[in-house]
Amino acid sequence: MEKIRGILIGRMQPVHNGHMQVIDKILDEVDEIIIGIGSAQLSHELKDPFTAGERIVMMSQALAERDVDSSRYYIIPMQDINFNAIWVSHVKMLTPPFSIVYSGNPLVKQLFQEESFEVRQPPLYDRLHLSGSEVRRRILAGENWQELVPNSTIELLDEINGVERLKNLSQKEVSDI
Ligand code: NAD
Repeated sequence: MEKIRGILIGRMQPVHNGHMQVIDKILDEVDEIIIGIGSAQLSHELKDPFTAGERIVMMSQALAERDVDSSRYYIIPMQDINFNAIWVSHVKMLTPPFSIVYSGNPLVKQLFQEESFEVRQPPLYDRLHLSGSEVRRRILAGENWQELVPNSTIELLDEINGVERLKNLSQKEVSDI
């Protein structure tokens, strides 16, 4: 029987518990999920500190931590392109065929709707706290960011000195002003 596939694309800077709750919900609705690691070309910037490779490891370890069967997902890095009007074709070129797009991002929803995909907006899970920008803000402020992310993300940031990287990036940008 033909598999129903859904796609979720995110920068995952870093992977947090909101992403993982959305993925749990999507896996209740489809056979397989494609997880696109967006803006794959970006790293070592305050808003985008982690490389695509680091984010792939974060995501695969977070899925393993939740005991998600590895035959049910694909993790695919996706560089941005300059042309929004052909971005959907770019995504299609990189991925297995899919029919449902999950996103809360207005531009992503708009572009896929224009190409006649079914777009579903997943519920927002504690969006005030569960967002990449809040995790990065707490890291820089020395507040509790660990409660917002899977244990495997904490371990990976430790392994790659991710907290130190973010702090160094913020110092550099201040001194550049
Ligand atoms: P993100 O990591 O902020 O979010 C990923 C997804 O998870 C979103 O759908 C978001 O709504 C959902 N999410 C996050 N926190 C949640 C929570 N607490 N509860 C429920 N859902 C939650 O990433 P994003 O910014 O949406 O990523 C979109 C990517 O697509 C970016 O990399 C962007 O550059 C790329 N893009 C590229 C082009 C182009 O290249 N022309 C065009 C459009 C989008």
